[in-house]
Amino acid sequence: MGQPAGAGAPTPRSGPAGQFMSPPGPEEAQLLATGRSLALAAEQAAALTPADVRAAAEREIDEASALFDEFPATERNEIEELEARLRALRDADPVEPSVEPSGLGRLFGRRSRKSNVDPSEERLRALSLGSMGKARAILFNAREGRGHATSSALLRLAEAYGAELAEHRSMGGELDVHEGGEERARQLVQSALRRFPAPWIAESNAFSIPVQIRHVNAGERAAYRRRDDLPSMAAGRDIAAILVPDVRENRNPYDSGGPDRAAFHELGHRMQHANPTIGALEHEHIRRRTTAPTGEREPLTPLPGKGESGWASNFADPYQGRDYSRAYPDDTPTEILSVGMEALFGGAYGGFIGAGRYAPDDDSRFFILGLLAAHDGGAEAR
Ligand SMILES: [Zn+2]
Repeated sequence: MGQPAGAGAPTPRSGPAGQFMSPPGPEEAQLLATGRSLALAAEQAAALTPADVRAAAEREIDEASALFDEFPATERNEIEELEARLRALRDADPVEPSVEPSGLGRLFGRRSRKSNVDPSEERLRALSLGSMGKARAILFNAREGRGHATSSALLRLAEAYGAELAEHRSMGGELDVHEGGEERARQLVQSALRRFPAPWIAESNAFSIPVQIRHVNAGERAAYRRRDDLPSMAAGRDIAAILVPDVRENRNPYDSGGPDRAAFHELGHRMQHANPTIGALEHEHIRRRTTAPTGEREPLTPLPGKGESGWASNFADPYQGRDYSRAYPDDTPTEILSVGMEALFGGAYGGFIGAGRYAPDDDSRFFILGLLAAHDGGAEAR
């Protein structure tokens, strides 16, 4: 599950369905209706339909496949075997629970420590500099829905979602951050804030646990840490941290997803942490998406390559169904808003409209847009 399909364009599945799926309750149904009308208005404003974007992605996959297939089979086999080996290594070497991916399909930099680099990683990196390796990376990115035309279309849609949201309510603002941290990381995160409602940002600023913004080390993954270890906080006060990749770093050739994806994702976790009512709605969403109408819950299964488990079956990417209840039994986080922000505004996971190898998921798309458009942020509810 979750691996790129073979040569040729994948046929998008029909979206969330199946055994473990229940209808929404009244509050969520209202959010979904709001999100749906906002999505349709945005598509109209951008003069784009999800089918247009899917078609663009399929064309890019076909073109990239044809380009890659021109190389000799022995060379193509070597690159495919190296990828398979790195995938297996990644699956056998789970990352720490507090550290999470800023992009899927990461084959490079399983660990930040340079001494731990496998020779196959170095060989693949060297191959990726040649014309065949470049063709392979183009194909990989096309399957991820990150080809040039597809990315531009998803970006236009993201701009249109943003414009529609701004008609509904005040969006964006300044995030108060704890001193220290890093300026470029801070700028990256501040720029992603334009996609979050102003009242949510105000809630974060009023929250008792301040947040610092820094870069992750090379090869490490972006993260939101609810409790960070900072010597300056030795007085016993908790601090949280948003960790994002450094834009100046050489990213691996397979990862064309920008660091702004990570900023959207980790800010999603921050908002969830500072606004408990957001988390409550996310939990309601994930529960009905993983529970049959008979009440039977989908069993937890291991997530590919993460050393974690989740309810994977009904999401565009299994990571969205990650379960944190063991790591955080109280006030458990989810990946609903974080992954959703990445999908809608960072062009990840096929934009939830089925670009590339991902299934479309209007249920998630409308939920995230409805939440952004209509949820108060909890100040009144608490
Ligand atoms: Zn996350």
